[in-house]
Amino acid sequence: MRIDIVTLFPEMFAGPFGHSIIKRACDNHLLQIAMVNPRDFTFDKHRIVDDYAFGGGAGMVMKPEPLFRAVESITAGANCVNRRVILTSPGGNRFDQEKCKELAAYDQLIFICGHYEGIDARVGDFLVDEAISIGDYVLTGGELPAMVIVDAVARMLPGVLGSTDSAQQDSFYNGLLEYPQYTRPREFDGYEVPEILLSGDHAKIDRWRRKQSLKTTLERRPDLMAKAQLSADDRKLIDEILAEQSGG
Ligand code: SAM
Repeated sequence: MRIDIVTLFPEMFAGPFGHSIIKRACDNHLLQIAMVNPRDFTFDKHRIVDDYAFGGGAGMVMKPEPLFRAVESITAGANCVNRRVILTSPGGNRFDQEKCKELAAYDQLIFICGHYEGIDARVGDFLVDEAISIGDYVLTGGELPAMVIVDAVARMLPGVLGSTDSAQQDSFYNGLLEYPQYTRPREFDGYEVPEILLSGDHAKIDRWRRKQSLKTTLERRPDLMAKAQLSADDRKLIDEILAEQSGG
């Protein structure tokens, strides 16, 4: 996958993309990430990218021309049709694992990172395919949201995670939260690993894990249960959980 990030602060990405799984994905050519600075698409002496808001009000607004030109510099001459241009915005569609899977199917993602009070609305109306928010809070810029989205999408791409690190087992992938994980030591300061995980009985371990996954989701995120795909056995496990909780 090819990812282009339109940002006034390309240097911010060096840390998150220069280590661990994302770096390995880039080194292995599974992911190609490039930055474009809209300041390079200004033609005035001071390379101005923002201006006062029409109608007044506090704060500066990012001008449309450098952003349109920056995106056009990425798409010009490229024959990639399977691409999505994304504006990071608190008012955008909420980013979640479903959206992440959807974005992972594109060949190219282009992110526009806003700053200041925001971006001229014509960018949202005429340049981008979609605006995405990473949550109901306001950050100082779109760089952190772009990093979050790229990181989550990258781990969906075939070959990015090692075989021992499967995205399918993660929270949200199948609509539920993950079961608890343990490693050595078996006993630490009197805290024990659940006995069943040491049994070697993989059918029983799988069932226990599924039950813990259902239990954790019921307790912490009951809203997810409505959309989760549940089997007949899951329903039996839920009955067991509810009976245990009511002391039955
Ligand atoms: N005045 C804007 C508003 O109330 O919606 C907030 C602008 S914010 C200070 C500057 C930029 O940060 C935004 O243009 C956007 O690119 C990014 N940003 C801030 N919070 C975000 C969020 N929750 N999700 C995605 N992008 C966000």
